Amino acid sequence: MKVGFIGLGQMGAAMATNLVRAGHEVTVYNRSAARAEPLVSLGARRAASVAEACRGEAVITMLADDDAVGGVCSGPGGIEQSLHKHAIHVSMSTISVALSAALAAAHARAGQRYVSAPVFGRPEAAAAAKLFIVPAGEPGDIEACRALFDAMAQKTIPIGREPPIANLVKLSGNFLIASLIESLGEAIALVGKAGVDRNAYVELLTATMFPAPAYRIYGGLIAAGKFEPAAFAAPLGHKDIRLALAAAEQLRVPMPIASLLNDRLLRLLAQPGGERLDWAAIGGLAAADAGSAAPR
Ligand code: NAP
Repeated sequence: MKVGFIGLGQMGAAMATNLVRAGHEVTVYNRSAARAEPLVSLGARRAASVAEACRGEAVITMLADDDAVGGVCSGPGGIEQSLHKHAIHVSMSTISVALSAALAAAHARAGQRYVSAPVFGRPEAAAAAKLFIVPAGEPGDIEACRALFDAMAQKTIPIGREPPIANLVKLSGNFLIASLIESLGEAIALVGKAGVDRNAYVELLTATMFPAPAYRIYGGLIAAGKFEPAAFAAPLGHKDIRLALAAAEQLRVPMPIASLLNDRLLRLLAQPGGERLDWAAIGGLAAADAGSAAPR
């Protein structure tokens, strides 16, 4: 397909690389232009503006947050003004339910199509084309993106016709991941302070009752105390918990654990250098609170 790709951060660069490798005609744009270089070397075209990245059948956005996505979508030269009629905006960033609904309405008004397609998986999974993509939108529109999703994901699981539902599901998933990071951190702090080998403990958990990838990935990071360089930066994790709480408030759903996680992430971000850490570092707070030395 002829596709534009906007946002070449840790996730976007890896995803766009897989689209190029799969033979799609990819035009890339990033606010900091230097990040496009490796993609151009692989055969992608460079767009000098957002508008230039909107000339194909689809444009993908993989940007940090609502401000970034809203900024490239609206206004002069934005996606809404630049995308052809019937072309598809595939929104893959983790954004708010409210923004996703606004984008769906704006694209419909402009005669464009909109698929919300957030992803599960960290940059390693993106590089290995092993993401899980959870799209929502008109079934025909999702099907039109199938070749793109196949190039980036191990599995694509559509979740309905209403685009914002995919964002809600993604935010609920990240709420669960943050919950397990916090609870694993507390469990590891408990047994670690008593002298149990942290890595052996995580191996035991994941070989028995908790074989899920999230326990393996985050258990390993917490046991090793390895929170830098960040593959998923703590400010982005904090954004997701705040967005989950905003959606919960809108729906009148109390989520006390999400409120606690919001404070844990704030506590992490308040410490010097906290913004540079992976969000897995909230799993290290319990050991610090217990007066234990950080694992080496
Ligand atoms: P990242 O490495 O920080 O990249 C962020 C991207 O957004 C960069 O291209 C950055 O451009 C751009 N950006 C930020 N603010 C902008 C603005 N105001 N205007 C225009 N561009 C802006 O983040 P990431 O880890 O790739 O995450 C991207 C999205 O995927 C986020 O929504 C995140 O929540 C979600 N996600 C991440 C992971 C993960 O494990 N990392 C997993 C699943 C989903 P510059 O290069 O110019 O700064």
